[in-house]
Amino acid sequence: MEFQAFNFHPAIAAGIKQAGYVTPTPIQRDAIPAVLQGRDVMGLAQTGTGKTAAFALPILQRLSNGPKGRVRALVVAPTRELAEQIHESFGALGRQTGLKSVTVYGGVNVNPQIQKLKNGVDVVVACPGRLLDHISQGTIDLSHLEVLVLDEADQMFDMGFLPDIRRILKHVPPKRQTLLFSATMPPDINKLASEVLTDPVTVKVGNTAPPVTVSHAIYPVEQHLKTALLLELLQHTDTESVLIFTRTKHRAKRLGEQLEKTGYKAASLQGNLSQNRRQAALDGFRDGTHQILVATDIAARGIDVSQISHVINYDIPDTPEAYVHRIGRTGRAAKSGDAFTMVSREDEVMVRTIEKKLGAPLERRTVKEFDYTVPSPKKDIEFARPPREPRPPRKVADSKKGTGASINPFKSEHPGSKPSGRPQQARTGATSGNTPKTVFNSSRRGK
Ligand code: AMP
Repeated sequence: MEFQAFNFHPAIAAGIKQAGYVTPTPIQRDAIPAVLQGRDVMGLAQTGTGKTAAFALPILQRLSNGPKGRVRALVVAPTRELAEQIHESFGALGRQTGLKSVTVYGGVNVNPQIQKLKNGVDVVVACPGRLLDHISQGTIDLSHLEVLVLDEADQMFDMGFLPDIRRILKHVPPKRQTLLFSATMPPDINKLASEVLTDPVTVKVGNTAPPVTVSHAIYPVEQHLKTALLLELLQHTDTESVLIFTRTKHRAKRLGEQLEKTGYKAASLQGNLSQNRRQAALDGFRDGTHQILVATDIAARGIDVSQISHVINYDIPDTPEAYVHRIGRTGRAAKSGDAFTMVSREDEVMVRTIEKKLGAPLERRTVKEFDYTVPSPKKDIEFARPPREPRPPRKVADSKKGTGASINPFKSEHPGSKPSGRPQQARTGATSGNTPKTVFNSSRRGK
């Protein structure tokens, strides 16, 4: 099946072509017809499945007909990064439609958002907190809303946004089309879905299974040797771009600095950064300036870098769902990737839980040339113990920190901004420069 089968408006078909999409992904194949028919949809799909275009394309189709310049579609997303990505997708796919989108999230000056809303937009992509600010200030008019999308609903729930979502729901017309996307379906989301969706079509794609293109391995190691083992793995693995997860913001920052000191082009992404620096870290990772990005779960939420070759869990995630989310960052859109997880003694229970979820044991690997007997240092014991810092506070995504993120309408006002249509982005130079030479293709060497 190809995209032509959907009979999209020529302006949208042009956007699809420009993005380089030929064949719809399974979620697109199943969701697009239902959304085009105006049905409510419950989409069980994680990041990396093509879910954004699954809702963006039929929404663009609907908005191409009818009045322009009023908010007819609202997408609510948990993080600023995800909001930007969705906005970029609308921008890329809808470039020739003349429709306009705006992002609305906290941590940046509200005035440009107000101005854009005043000038007239068709799509708003928002994080809950700032959207509620606009609603209470009367700076957004949702009375013409036709389509509401709640994206990554489970993550919004995890981050404590459910009360905000319910508040937002009171301000949108009851007669509307609602699409709810979630990677998992905890009871609270199920309840929300039954409240907001009317006779929905359920579309389920790779709900809990990680992408088949990813090969998984775990590396048992003492806490204090994790960094040394990581360096060993990086040196002996042919990595294109690596996303490393730590449990805490502080560890992300420290590890990023350590990798940089060792000569890697690395950056860290964590909640303490200003929005400008977060964006710079992300852009650098996307365009290959940084080969390695160290991030916490929340900071990395929704990161879309099509070419991630390796995900490394420096710290094991808290839940099997988080494992699947993290791993979903590699092997995206049918590319292959490797996922390594470092585990120490206290992680055994979580390893078993993850294996149960995956339905298969994870391969244990040891690196032959690595000295596992080095004792823990007396000083600088920070990385010698398990991370204890509590997880970031619940409402961080739409936080008030940071300054100056760009808000790109379809017709880019930012000539220097990144082009959309991410699949075509080449990661040239990712391993050039002063990056230590990555030697051989074997993630498998350490077996
Ligand atoms: P998403 O799950 O929406 O974050 O999308 C994951 C990645 O797949 C993004 O880089 C999309 O641009 C890309 N993508 C989405 N749909 C397609 C498609 N039909 N063909 C190829 N790539 C796609």
